[in-house]
Amino acid sequence: MDRYAVIGHPVKHSRSPRIHALFAAQTGQTLDYDRLESAPEAFTQTVLAFAASGARGCNITVPFKFEAWQMAAHRTARAELAQSANTLRFDAGGWWADNTDGIGLVRDITQNAGVTLAGQRVLLIGAGGAAAGSLGPLIDTQPAEIVVANRSVAKAEALVARHQDWAAAQGVRLHATDLDHAGEAFDGVINATASSLGGAESPVRAGVLKPGALALDMMYGAAAAGFLAWAETHGAHGRDGLGMLVEQAAEAFTAWRGVRPDTGPVLAQLRTEL
Ligand code: NDP
Repeated sequence: MDRYAVIGHPVKHSRSPRIHALFAAQTGQTLDYDRLESAPEAFTQTVLAFAASGARGCNITVPFKFEAWQMAAHRTARAELAQSANTLRFDAGGWWADNTDGIGLVRDITQNAGVTLAGQRVLLIGAGGAAAGSLGPLIDTQPAEIVVANRSVAKAEALVARHQDWAAAQGVRLHATDLDHAGEAFDGVINATASSLGGAESPVRAGVLKPGALALDMMYGAAAAGFLAWAETHGAHGRDGLGMLVEQAAEAFTAWRGVRPDTGPVLAQLRTEL
């Protein structure tokens, strides 16, 4: 049977095996999808051993997305911009890498939530792996402006510098700032930080929210509750990261199996299980 896994540290809470099992059942694909815990220093050996055992590909989660990107012979343009990969396919002619986080985010916003980003002002909070994976696909939706705000401003500046030519080609104004100067009244606010794990409601002031704005936290479940409550309190529409999670998985599944699953029923099922 074709085998896949999600590799991370920690990985035991990952919903990916459940999501891919639902996709496989829905599309009639026969595959096995597991969780693989890897010690931080052992990622390379873990993934090499998994591939050598005959597996077909893997997803990669924290903290290995940069290493996964480095290991591939062929990379999609969005993985190249992100300098990180969450999906590997062990092709015989050289491993292929993609980063599907950003396209998953964009699909959830534009298709599942029905929100248009083109011509809008977007605030992306964070400059870690999830923000890096998201910026290129966000630029592709051609907002008027994207501000990247991060606690460590140098990381936001580096991320923005890498995407500046791409943004200019798409007619998108792009700049970096710290959390205190994130700006005012955005149409879309995306929290790609891990700040809520520390119990904070939001890493930025409520003035960033335009009335009726979309405020999406990439987290889901209890971890997203504080940010979503903050957003609703200040007149925005809160959205968690579960849709993004399902959509990024669908993109990986499509790359591996050549069949695109219908994400709607899978997202609905996961909501009942949360
Ligand atoms: P990283 O560790 O790469 O980055 C963490 C980011 O959070 C950095 O920008 C960091 O800022 C910021 N941060 C951490 N603590 C605080 C704080 N107390 N106050 C303000 N900023 C803080 O993590 P990832 O980018 O990989 O993941 C970020 C989040 O996105 C996670 O919660 C993850 O679960 C979620 N995620 C969800 C996905 C989905 O499909 N729904 C997919 C991928 C990620 P600094 O640079 O200053 O340290």
